[in-house]
Amino acid sequence: RKHLQKRESSTEDEFEHEDTMSTPHAVPIVLAGEDHSFKLDEDALKRVLMRDEIKDRYVVVVSVAGAFRHGKSFLLDFFLRYMSAKYVLKQNTSEWIGSEDAPLEGFSWKGGSERDTTGILMWSEVFLTELVTGEKVAVVLLDTQGTWDSKSTVKECATIFALSTMLSSVQIYNLSSNIQEDDLQHLQLFTEYGRLALADSGKTPFQRLQFLVRDWRFPYEAPYGAVGGQQILEKRLEVNEHQHTELQSLRKHIRSCFMEIACFLMPHPGIKVATSPTFDGRLGEIDSEFKDNLKILVPMLLAPENLVLKRINGDKVKVRDFVQYFKSYMQIYEG
Ligand code: GDP
Repeated sequence: RKHLQKRESSTEDEFEHEDTMSTPHAVPIVLAGEDHSFKLDEDALKRVLMRDEIKDRYVVVVSVAGAFRHGKSFLLDFFLRYMSAKYVLKQNTSEWIGSEDAPLEGFSWKGGSERDTTGILMWSEVFLTELVTGEKVAVVLLDTQGTWDSKSTVKECATIFALSTMLSSVQIYNLSSNIQEDDLQHLQLFTEYGRLALADSGKTPFQRLQFLVRDWRFPYEAPYGAVGGQQILEKRLEVNEHQHTELQSLRKHIRSCFMEIACFLMPHPGIKVATSPTFDGRLGEIDSEFKDNLKILVPMLLAPENLVLKRINGDKVKVRDFVQYFKSYMQIYEG
């Protein structure tokens, strides 16, 4: 809130300086206020997206959503590494991941005061790339965070997750250790919010949902990666007549909301990552199994052949139109 006020009173020159001249950083776009209302920082949104080289491209929007301190920023830093490596043509090999002793630097999604504020952050650098078809696109990365721990924050969180699900072409639902029943209930709540908000076009409202289970502990039951993820997902979303009707309809609802649902199981990154206060992100201190799976996961989401264009009512969306949709979706929830 304070942050927004500060921005509103700044001059255009300061904005320019802040977002285009400085090193790339996470920009708070939608934040919850103390009274649980939401505010869109429209100036900030436009400063990131309405640039000449960006605004007429079709947009790919990848969001990572989940509770605080479950490794979202850490993962997003690797997304940034991958997207930046493109310029030095290292994407095709696994070199994009960097050298063993280099700290994970240059990027940090960990903001200052906004760190634990429910809301949507956008990376200030939009990545310009080409699909295999030669189409030039813009890739926007979002961090959607919140907490489901009290009555008021549940509503707040459902709203913000609904918003980012409506806005993204790929929503990555970052979960710790497993897909639990309450994770599915939260998912139902925010997809319901989103569905109500969207005009009923008769089309499936959302695009791709990617469950990402961190610290998966049962690789003998289901292996790390996408194949094991699919096994777990099928089990969790299975509908059968022995289930309570509520559980059945919850599962049918979730399936009906997304064009595509997938799941990926990540191993634990190792004790240094999880507990060391001095850990600086260097690869040498991350378990190799974790790194091996990152080398699969990140290209699976961000390689040119796997990018998913944002579609609204079935149509591809340009960045400039995306800004308009963002504003109109926001109006539904603002206040
Ligand atoms: P965020 O609040 O969700 O963005 O979480 P962060 O990325 O800031 O990570 C919170 C803490 O968890 C940091 O100390 C990370 O080093 C650590 N961490 C990152 N990824 C993982 C993971 O996959 N498993 C575990 N156990 N810890 C992780």
